Amino acid sequence: MSKKWVYRFNELDAIEEYVDGSWDDVRGLLGGKGANLAEMVRIGVPVPDGFTITTEACNEYLSLGEHLPDGLWEQLTSSLSEIEVATGKTFGDPKNPLLLSCRSGAKFSMPGMMDTVLNLGMNDETVAGLIESTGDARVAYDLYRRLIQMFGSVVMHIPDGKFEEVISRKRKEVGVKTDTELTGEHWMAVTEEFKNVFRFHTHHHFPTEPYAQLQMATEAVFMSWNGKRAFDYRNAAGIDHKLGTAVTIVAMVYGNLGDDSGTGVALTRSGTTGEHRIEGDYLTNAQGEDVVAGIRKTKDLSALKFEMPEVHAEFERVAVLLENHYREMQDVEFTIEKGKLWMLQTRDGKRTSQAAVRIAVEMVEEGLITKEEALMRVTPDLIDFFFHPQFDTQAMKDAAEDDKLLATGLNVSPGAAVGIVALDANLAQKWAKEDGKNVIMVRPETRPDDVHGMLAAQGIVTSRGGRTSHAALVARQFGTPAVVGVDEMDIDFTRRQIRVGNKVIREGEYISVDGTTGEIFLGQIETKQPDIKDEWLLKLLSWADEFRTLGVWANADYPVDATRAREYGAEGIGLCRTEHMFMEPERLPLVQQMILAEMELQRIEAIKALLPFQREDFTGLFRAMDGLPVVIRLIDPPLHEFLPDHVSLVKELSDLKIQLQHAPNLAVIDDLLEQVRVKEKVLARVELLREDNPMLGMRGVRLGNHFPDLPRMQVRAIIEAASLVTKEGGDVRPEIMIPLTSHVNELIFQRELLEVEAKKVMEEQGIEISYKFGTMIEIPRAALTADQLAEHAEFFSFGTNDLTQTTYGISRDDAEQGFLIEYMVNGILPENPFETIDRDGVGQLMKMAVEKGRKTNPDIKLGICGEHGGEAKSIALCHELGLNYVSCSPFRVPLARLAAARAAIAGKK
Ligand code: PEP
Ligand code: MG
Repeated sequence: MSKKWVYRFNELDAIEEYVDGSWDDVRGLLGGKGANLAEMVRIGVPVPDGFTITTEACNEYLSLGEHLPDGLWEQLTSSLSEIEVATGKTFGDPKNPLLLSCRSGAKFSMPGMMDTVLNLGMNDETVAGLIESTGDARVAYDLYRRLIQMFGSVVMHIPDGKFEEVISRKRKEVGVKTDTELTGEHWMAVTEEFKNVFRFHTHHHFPTEPYAQLQMATEAVFMSWNGKRAFDYRNAAGIDHKLGTAVTIVAMVYGNLGDDSGTGVALTRSGTTGEHRIEGDYLTNAQGEDVVAGIRKTKDLSALKFEMPEVHAEFERVAVLLENHYREMQDVEFTIEKGKLWMLQTRDGKRTSQAAVRIAVEMVEEGLITKEEALMRVTPDLIDFFFHPQFDTQAMKDAAEDDKLLATGLNVSPGAAVGIVALDANLAQKWAKEDGKNVIMVRPETRPDDVHGMLAAQGIVTSRGGRTSHAALVARQFGTPAVVGVDEMDIDFTRRQIRVGNKVIREGEYISVDGTTGEIFLGQIETKQPDIKDEWLLKLLSWADEFRTLGVWANADYPVDATRAREYGAEGIGLCRTEHMFMEPERLPLVQQMILAEMELQRIEAIKALLPFQREDFTGLFRAMDGLPVVIRLIDPPLHEFLPDHVSLVKELSDLKIQLQHAPNLAVIDDLLEQVRVKEKVLARVELLREDNPMLGMRGVRLGNHFPDLPRMQVRAIIEAASLVTKEGGDVRPEIMIPLTSHVNELIFQRELLEVEAKKVMEEQGIEISYKFGTMIEIPRAALTADQLAEHAEFFSFGTNDLTQTTYGISRDDAEQGFLIEYMVNGILPENPFETIDRDGVGQLMKMAVEKGRKTNPDIKLGICGEHGGEAKSIALCHELGLNYVSCSPFRVPLARLAAARAAIAGKK
């Protein structure tokens, strides 16, 4: 007996037995599509009858030199007879014809394989029979011409444009704009011309014998496995060439058989908000393509409740079946044929970040998934999208009152975008990439070859299409705000402008697009950062907190940042960069005075004058972080950063000297001379402080040791502020951090100096403040000697920005503008090490520092405060290394909470 090559959709049990129960192997044998359809049948979803020819048959066919394997054809025809019995229709029967679709389906979704052929079984006899039974020549010829067109282009590789030319010629000849206006007679003429196109390009008649059509289509699928595009794709994606493709044959059902028929696409929950409500578009009396093409305006699925209440109820039943089985929101394609609902396809639905969060949370509450699963489903980048800017509500109201509301369409991808209108993808890309402009790409609809423009744009607007249109899907996937289906908008490519009523916007003018409400405004509307108030996000993050073991702190310099960080869930401040405070206008002159002072006394005066400012800064921070640790890092950058730029100074001096030569009187000369003297002094100091490699020069702890009065003042400010807040009844937990340590003696020297000062302040204040003393690990030598450092530090914080810089010997500021990007494009570096911690290098140093540090000081607290502390993969590494916390920008705190929980869950597995 020959091998079993063909399985009906209802034979899933037999297949599972054959492959020993592995679902992966079922997919391997039936392809993703075939396995999916069989699974739907098993759970009781109404799927049109059909069968799948296995990937083994494909491989056998190819190895036999393109010959059908023994027994295949018999099995195929016998399966077909069973379908004929089940449907009451016969393949090739002129009176009551069964029509079939033929699709390829490999284990992995794979572009380049043969596409779908619909309506197999149509020919001159069946078309006549269909006209007789349906009384609708238009439908019958439309089916027939579609078969010739698809068979011609997909099986015989005739360029599809050749067929489209015929249709557009016909439309012109008849004087109509759309295909739907063509009658049965017109389609009959088109069909005849299609046959000619077919004969002209293939030198054969179109095969009218149904079984011949079926065999040719099946073999074409098999052969497409070895087509060049499929082959190249497999090479690029690393897919095994031996897998082969399956062929799925399905009985056709029709949505264009009258007003009790229809077709559409739907999501089992809202893909925009996540609300538990079926959301979709459909068309009555239409074919599937009509919905996707966006030619006719689709109806909202809620209308089905009134048009076909029973079908709507059945739809709801099926949606529950699907969700209970897949435990995921599903994206389905369906057809209603004479009041009967058929599901054609289901897959996990695409969604916005807001929807992803809400769906995950509600599925936990509905008992469909566990909290861990919900946390693993919402990826950290979705949380990042969540915090995309939104329009200021008041600004939107004002704009509406000013008659700036241009139009409203479907809100398919949330977020606010402001930019200039670009009417095609190339221009959108050029303006965005080359000219650095914010662009909104506006098109009638989008296609795959528009994606480069869509990616470059801040926002996307289309005049056609629904929630499942190409534009909506791409926008959602990339988190780009989008509004589609703005049908009142007229795009005029000749004048390069868009018009809505009497409002005209020329290409290059600004519009503001709100993907959350679907509104489009003229001009630029102010945007703001969203609040973390979404109830589902809050719930998800509270679950994250249950699972994570890593603490999440924030890098914040000012009380307002600290307050926000706390609101977002930060459990401490992991880095307050004090030098930012020195840059402020009323302080900078004091800092400069300190640096330029020739006498020690002058320097001390300037430093003293800075003390009240610093005390005020820290008081605010301690109040905002009541009860939580605050790590204050003492001054870090090289001093020249506080002084005027060398080149500008030289230029200003030379300008002054020129003015001197033309001075009109002595008073002016005196004044200019004084200015020259001051500038020359500054210049001399700047030149003295100038370093060839300032990043490796006098900064960090080196600066603190050089000018001990400076860190001493900072410590005084910290302890004075802490005393003040403690006396107010606050709970203060200061941690003093020394930057850029490389040798233990640097730490010992600083610690002694600072402890003396801290003690002095406490005595003055008559209060005991408990504080910690620690260091950053941001130089390889510090990591290598962490055991020594740990004896003099209560905590370490990894400064991975500098640690990456010093480990690689790459200057971040220069490299990211230059060769680093080139390195990533060329694949020399797989990732940007300044974005994701370099596990093999920097990660090794961190590991060593953790182990050595804990060896001499088991209680040492370990954290990270480089940018990596807010990046998901790096957070996972920090979890693995056993750090106590990560610290990141306040806006990344929610992401870090989730990433830390995911790392903990993944670790348990
Ligand atoms: C670091 O180097 O990682 C760090 C946090 O310090 P900065 O970025 O201020 O140099
Ligand atoms: Mg640093």
